Amino acid sequence: KLKDLMPSSSGGNNTDLTIDWNRTDFEWSQDARKNLKETFKLENFRPLQLETINVTLSKIDCLVIMPTGGGKSLCFQLPALIDTGLTLVVSPLVSLMEDQLWLLKSLNINADTLNSTSSKDHVTKIHSQMLDNKSSLKILYVTPEKLAKSKIFMNKLQKMYEAGRFKRLVVDEVHCCSTYGHDFRPDYKFLGVMKQVFPNICILGLTATATQSVIDDVKKILSIPKCVLFKASFNRPNLFYEIKQKPSSHEEFINELATLIKKKFSQQSGIVYCFSQKESSQVAIDLCSRGIKAGCYHASMDALERSKVHEKWLKNQVHVIVATIAFGMGIDKQDCRFVIHHSLSKSLENFYQESGRAGRDGKTAHSILFFRFADVFRQSTMVFTEQTGLENLYSIVNYCIDKKTCKRILIAKHFNDDVWEKNGDCNQMCDHCKDTNSNQIEKIDVFEEACFVLSVLENTKSDKKLTSNKLAELVYSGIVSKNKKSNYYPNNLNQTEVENLILTMLMNSYLKEDFHFTPYNTICYVVAGPLSKHLRNDSCFYIDRTSSHSSKAASIEKLAKPELAEKNESKELKTRKRNLDMNASSDSCELIFD
Ligand code: ADP
Ligand code: MG
Ligand code: ZN
Repeated sequence: KLKDLMPSSSGGNNTDLTIDWNRTDFEWSQDARKNLKETFKLENFRPLQLETINVTLSKIDCLVIMPTGGGKSLCFQLPALIDTGLTLVVSPLVSLMEDQLWLLKSLNINADTLNSTSSKDHVTKIHSQMLDNKSSLKILYVTPEKLAKSKIFMNKLQKMYEAGRFKRLVVDEVHCCSTYGHDFRPDYKFLGVMKQVFPNICILGLTATATQSVIDDVKKILSIPKCVLFKASFNRPNLFYEIKQKPSSHEEFINELATLIKKKFSQQSGIVYCFSQKESSQVAIDLCSRGIKAGCYHASMDALERSKVHEKWLKNQVHVIVATIAFGMGIDKQDCRFVIHHSLSKSLENFYQESGRAGRDGKTAHSILFFRFADVFRQSTMVFTEQTGLENLYSIVNYCIDKKTCKRILIAKHFNDDVWEKNGDCNQMCDHCKDTNSNQIEKIDVFEEACFVLSVLENTKSDKKLTSNKLAELVYSGIVSKNKKSNYYPNNLNQTEVENLILTMLMNSYLKEDFHFTPYNTICYVVAGPLSKHLRNDSCFYIDRTSSHSSKAASIEKLAKPELAEKNESKELKTRKRNLDMNASSDSCELIFD
């Protein structure tokens, strides 16, 4: 019954099914409405805000999963005003706290913060307010470090608890507790003790991270197994999702990128996400030299420089921020019209968060990801040490190479977003649904070619391993030369299709990445995977082919003019070698959490 009333809440066994949480006859209901209008100057609650407020004011633990910009802050700021005592809010970034404090101040709400930059006097003042029943301080923001490292502060909290003034702990960006999430913070782990030390407090956790593994992990860490779970839909109907094949030469790519920005997003705000710091500074320079107002942003720049660029972007003096993932949490520009991924993110989760920075104002905005085979392996050498690093990486690879499925459905499936999958009409807001040729995408059986990939690996001497590029090169040229003698592989795979075949085999464990450390970098080889022995039993193996694909035309051309085909082939091989060189001098990606 609850499901019918609130299609966007999903709590499984943990939701208290006996209560309808959007009721307006709680003892605080009128007060809440009044505060919404008079203090926060807002007209109506957004989806799940009222429900969350009712749960937390009922002193029940609650987890709220809502996309960025959905309005999570109000879910704890408003109850803080209604309840007696002080609400403690844990937040991961000082800049996030300062933004919220500034806003609360403008609404005449008494809130404050304690963090590593607080002066001694300030700390003393806050400590006394924590214990003072007459104090008007309603919300106190702290960093997780403060809790984990300051015994004095924990001691004050204990006293505040004993005095009945500490009833609610809010954990903003609660996914930071979990190592499965996209920005794990070790000090968040400390929050696990809070329920033990303060058994009567209620906890309210908020995040935009919706993956089931993170949710389960957070419940365990915070010891809130019976919490009410609210999950809003993650569909961003105004975002157009698109994948483009990335040209192999840097020059060619930059020209395409600059033309795209000038033609489609002239004078508009956007972000270009790059893999490394080096890449982001280079791309910023290249875009500037093509007449685009671009600025660079990454974690090695000093704080002042970074905030200057950020501010110029906010004021539209800089149109395009070319950044690493350091440009992330807390970025809130309503009219950001596009997010372009220079190379793929390290997971679909990261991609969703990054692309989600476009179109906060609800107007149409674009997410464009440039995909190329080599980038997968640049990323894998960075993420393979993480617990589920490769699994996460393959989730975004699948998003990039699956041509049969609506992009929205692919994202929804990843987030287990059943609401969105059911009524989530894409409205032609992704390249798959908009492209009228999409229904011409066919599955082709590349079983023979897949076997050939394995035989290439088998025939490689055991002391000589193959990189992904080398493997793709050998497979492609092998297929072409066999076809010259007889039409042995009638699929006539082109270069991209060979690459997609290798990626699909990786994702299905027919192949496996094998990492080796050199004193300078990590090298990734491709070897036979744990399921390679089963391939022959399976007897079919599919990849997608767009029928507009040049492969058919190319193969006809090859039959007609063999010498031309050879020329093309050697050109392709040259490009491939150049890619290989670019990879060898690979620069390290951004690891620093800002
Ligand atoms: P989140 O933390 O979920 O990313 P915020 O709490 O920062 O989102 O809120 C995002 C924006 O939405 C803010 O500008 C906020 O003022 C606005 N907002 C929140 N609740 C409402 C509401 N009920 N009506 C209108 N605007 C709202
Ligand atoms: Mg927030
Ligand atoms: Zn679609």
